[in-house]
Amino acid sequence: MRWFLKNLTPHPITIGGVTLPVDGPAPRLSVSRQPLGEVAGVPIVRATMGDVVGLPAEQRAVILIVSAMVAEAAPDRWDLAYPGEAIRDSDGRVIGAVGLCAGPGLASRPLSPCASCGAVGGMLDGAGCTVRGCSY
Ligand SMILES: [Zn+2]
Repeated sequence: MRWFLKNLTPHPITIGGVTLPVDGPAPRLSVSRQPLGEVAGVPIVRATMGDVVGLPAEQRAVILIVSAMVAEAAPDRWDLAYPGEAIRDSDGRVIGAVGLCAGPGLASRPLSPCASCGAVGGMLDGAGCTVRGCSY
């Protein structure tokens, strides 16, 4: 199985030295804002996150990289992940991510050793091997 990562965040992402360009519009959470008043002349609202908007349908062998908030808000989706721990340069600028964080749906799928390439955790239940270059 050949797996694809689609970057549906607003920015290119560098993981393992490979930069993934933006692959489409970023899904987001709808927000409702309730005005509370003003503090020192600045308006203050209470923002409440609602449903996920703009998330494409699941596709076989495709993991969508989305924002952490979107991934966490869609626990029924097995195909969502978000950028992992940030890698920073000496000035503190983010220059990449160590890997990906699984959303709750992806994290709940059993991962087992691949029968073909032997990678530990390579098999995603019912969806084939996730290891780059393995065709199982
Ligand atoms: Zn494999």
